[in-house]
Amino acid sequence: MPELPEVETTAKMLNKLVKNLIIRDVWSDYNSKAFEGKRNIKDKNYFLKFREEIIGEKILKVHRLGKNVLFQLSNNKTILAHMKMTGHFLFGKYKFQSGKWIPDEKNKNRALLDPMNRFIHLVISLSNSKHLAFSDMRKFAKIYLIENKVAKKDEELKNIGTDALNTKLTLKDFKARLLTKKNAKIKTALMYQELISGIGNIYSDEILWASFVRPDRIVSSLNEQEFKKIFNHMKRILKKSISMGGDSMSDYRNPLGQRGLFQNIHKVYRRTRLQCFRKSCKGIIQKIVINSRSAHFCPNCQR
Ligand SMILES: [Zn+2]
Repeated sequence: MPELPEVETTAKMLNKLVKNLIIRDVWSDYNSKAFEGKRNIKDKNYFLKFREEIIGEKILKVHRLGKNVLFQLSNNKTILAHMKMTGHFLFGKYKFQSGKWIPDEKNKNRALLDPMNRFIHLVISLSNSKHLAFSDMRKFAKIYLIENKVAKKDEELKNIGTDALNTKLTLKDFKARLLTKKNAKIKTALMYQELISGIGNIYSDEILWASFVRPDRIVSSLNEQEFKKIFNHMKRILKKSISMGGDSMSDYRNPLGQRGLFQNIHKVYRRTRLQCFRKSCKGIIQKIVINSRSAHFCPNCQR
């Protein structure tokens, strides 16, 4: 699932690619009975309303909030997109052929042909004759429209905690936030979006390995030094991943269809049964389940 670095990469690139363009048309083949009556474009009736409201509007700005991509429109409304498991936006020239949207040969961009970019379920036609497409293999994404004046109360946005890269977030705040879940395991606490937003499965494992802290440590058992290490490595690792275009070990691709590179420098995530990368350590990476999420760690050097 895209985490802070991937969503940041997407939002930053889209802000350059689609800012100030006008939405000319919108197509989708999402249509799920399970979402009937819900505020989600997967409900056909909701989609028709959504389409009508956004056609003709200008995209003023694209930015990130937590793990959401927000498209601010000229009608005081915002498209909220949570990419969930397998969703990602793509930008280029597309054409509709035999019932589906495919990249036009005029794109001299081969990356759009990557198999992970083939699951197109939403296409927004733009005023420069290009398209904003959304590929979502497993169809878990959540996309809907919110009115700006009620955005702060929106169910997806109201509980988002301080951003992990917010420059105003101090070590003291960070520690106090985690301690509100003092009986939780540290990996779980780092992933609670209402405390600190942006961290998911990959980065929590990487941050804790770098900090020499086991993912199943109880928050209240951490000492000052450990909180400090986790805080500093969190900032460092998230920034490092942004500089590498995010993580594409799974299906994430940026809006030009390209892979990020952070997976090439994983120290622990999905390295089960391999030797620990720490020079002086002979530990073997283990995988355990914490709060129904897999956690990877070195039982030798993480305490
Ligand atoms: Zn180790």
